[in-house]
Amino acid sequence: MKPQIRSEYNGKGYVYAASASDIAKETGFDKIARLASNENPFEPSPAIRKAAQEALAYINRYPDPSSAKIREAIRRNIYDAPVVVSGSGMDGVIETVIRVVVAPGDKVAVAAPTFSVYGLAAKAASAEIVNIQSKEDFTIDVDAFIEGAKDAKLSFLCTPNNPTGTTVPAEDVKRILENISGFLFLDCAYIEFADEDYYQLLSYDNLIIGRTLSKVYGLAGLRIGYAFVPEWFVGPYMAGVTPFSLNCVSEAAGVAALENPECKDALVSHVRSWRKRFGEEIPFPVLPSGANFVLINTAPIKSDDAVKQLQKMGILVRSCSSFPGLGETYVRVSIGDDWENERFLEGVKKLC
Ligand SMILES: *Cc1c(COP(=O)(O)O)cnc(C)c1O
Repeated sequence: MKPQIRSEYNGKGYVYAASASDIAKETGFDKIARLASNENPFEPSPAIRKAAQEALAYINRYPDPSSAKIREAIRRNIYDAPVVVSGSGMDGVIETVIRVVVAPGDKVAVAAPTFSVYGLAAKAASAEIVNIQSKEDFTIDVDAFIEGAKDAKLSFLCTPNNPTGTTVPAEDVKRILENISGFLFLDCAYIEFADEDYYQLLSYDNLIIGRTLSKVYGLAGLRIGYAFVPEWFVGPYMAGVTPFSLNCVSEAAGVAALENPECKDALVSHVRSWRKRFGEEIPFPVLPSGANFVLINTAPIKSDDAVKQLQKMGILVRSCSSFPGLGETYVRVSIGDDWENERFLEGVKKLC
């Protein structure tokens, strides 16, 4: 007889992008334009590889449980503020914060449409999830957000938002912080590509700013996430986090990435110039984006169909039909290397 599992896990979990090697096999292209996961398209620098390689000499030992080296590097290079880390990306930070803050039946508010991990992790904690729909142009409806989030234990707001690219002004975040009783988790996975900054809000006792080395720093494969938290929350976070969450190879490479910001700066300029060109040349409506991707509306073509047509041309992009609150004609396209972007611009003009 099969043992029972929780009903939450009879359905679907996280929806992953299609595999580039499967698409390569199906289509015969030897290189696929990988524009579905918002990654940094450039390979890691020699300094990062060297640091990772050197750390291999110590993998017989457990890593430093407090991850002191990378926390120091973050304080030196990003913000000098209390910071916690996770070895399964910002996804791991989100799970830990939920573990520490949310008990079964507690309310968790989520702005929609957005990244799916908040809802999945809140469901795992048996929370009551409240989705708060954004305005028609995908900007945040601040009054509706406050109304839905005011008595939630924890609320999630993503800026720039995945998948819309919409950036929330700092004054709006401030108004939210002052009018809710629980925590606000501000997901800033793409903030380096935007013109907004929330540093001045870190004095609030109910703000957590989630960040990651997976996107602009190009370390998606090493799964390093972190968050700036109020000083008083460091202790509870450390009590809840999975022990030895960040491994020593990831930590060493992460420190090297943080200490060598030239690569990140080069990527940001590359993204900004291509984002402009995408806005001008894509023959469909393109939403204004503060991130390293754009959301396009391919109507009347269904997004699943557009994605299939592009796959046949060796281009992998993300259909957003699985994002609740978004409809069936939105496609998210990451900004990749020059050849990938050129191939996409050629392909998108042929959609029918
Ligand atoms: C990619 C992403 C993350 C986290 O990525 P990790 O690889 O887990 O650090 C978090 N939030 C959003 C909105 C993302 O797109």
